[in-house]
Amino acid sequence: MADTTSLSDPCTCGSGEKYKNCCGQEFLRDKRQKRNRMVLILSGVAVAIGLLVYMQKDIDRAQNAAPSKVGHVWSFEHNHFHKINEHGEEVEADPEH
Ligand SMILES: [Zn+2]
Ligand SMILES: [Zn+2]
Repeated sequence: MADTTSLSDPCTCGSGEKYKNCCGQEFLRDKRQKRNRMVLILSGVAVAIGLLVYMQKDIDRAQNAAPSKVGHVWSFEHNHFHKINEHGEEVEADPEH
């Protein structure tokens, strides 16, 4: 409120111009730039969150879709189970198919 009334007042620098036509321009431009930057940041954050949620949904879907079997891991690439060997590595479970 104080900002809008003082804009029409004589500038504090003593130039005789109205504040909004003198030093106030800098202030107003700064204010606008800050707001624009804020909008940019906020939309960037929103996009990032949206992307994260979207990716999480994708991961959830993949995990939900994967059949589970003890000691095995589903291979989406091969569309069948892979065994987990003693080294914790994914290996073909050939005898089963
Ligand atoms: Zn001024
Ligand atoms: Zn395989």
